[in-house]
Amino acid sequence: MRQHTRLIRSAVLATTVAVSLVLVTGSTLAQSYPAKPISLIVPFAAGGPTDIVARTLAAAMSKPLGQTVLVENKLGAGGTLAASYVAKAAPDGYTFLIHHNGMSTAPALYRKLSFNPLTDFEYVGQVVDVPMTLIGRKDLPAKNLQELMAYVKANASKINLANAGLGAVSHLCGMLFQKAMGTEVTTVPFSGTAPALNALLGGQVDLLCDQTTQTTQHIKAGTVKLFGVTTKERIRAMPDAATLNEGGLKDFEVIVWHGVYAPKGTPVSVIEKFNAALRTALKDPAFANRMTDLGAEIAPDAKQTPEGLKSWLQSETQKWGPVIRAAGVYAD
Ligand code: ASP
Repeated sequence: MRQHTRLIRSAVLATTVAVSLVLVTGSTLAQSYPAKPISLIVPFAAGGPTDIVARTLAAAMSKPLGQTVLVENKLGAGGTLAASYVAKAAPDGYTFLIHHNGMSTAPALYRKLSFNPLTDFEYVGQVVDVPMTLIGRKDLPAKNLQELMAYVKANASKINLANAGLGAVSHLCGMLFQKAMGTEVTTVPFSGTAPALNALLGGQVDLLCDQTTQTTQHIKAGTVKLFGVTTKERIRAMPDAATLNEGGLKDFEVIVWHGVYAPKGTPVSVIEKFNAALRTALKDPAFANRMTDLGAEIAPDAKQTPEGLKSWLQSETQKWGPVIRAAGVYAD
């Protein structure tokens, strides 16, 4: 009996020591963090919409953090390679992921996924919401959405619709566009919007649905043709641009939202510090003005939090899963 009590006592003591060690390590880490540059992993090619948001954010977050936030592009498999990399990275506060709707569509698009977006991460907060635009090569013989749909229907076997990878949000948008039209065309995946848009500018592909963060400048310069914006309401950055909804695709809506994630087990003190820097950066005029020019809207305060991102990811996963399964589309 006495031996039993002694055993319990030493177990309690060991637990207390372990807990204090974690607390000491945690608070020491909180004081010294960040002690070196931090990596922000981008799942798509450099120069694309996610990359533009990431680099503008990284510059704005480096100020409150007092350390450089380095953007690294890890391309492939519609963003899932980067997410898987971060899910398995050391949870030490020096590796983060910025990703978009792809985190909520991947579980339905990929039958084999090496990570679970809802359980394998710590959630930092949301960043910006970005509308998409359906654009075409500038010499397409269609002046508006109605003419485009007639042209696509008549030439379906010849039309190439680019996207930023199977599982990218441009893939989702293109898939919804084909479904809404009732016509299937050939899909051409790239490793991000930057190469997909180059192919459109070069006339190697016909159509692309992608974020205003990268398409606006080409729409304004007239180097691509705009057929509609994917939000229900017109956007402030291009008030003359009609929505796809107005053009006849009723209830068509895709908005790209971005979140910042850390590997599961990253200390709460680190997440809090990174989140505080994120919220400061979202108020930084350099960040906010650039985003407004590109048609992006800063996420509302309630979504800039770990809980806000997690519950939004849950609701988006519930929203897109059935849509993708009903379309019978897989990326793998
Ligand atoms: N816009 C891309 C997508 O469709 C990704 C990117 O290059 O930012 O997901």
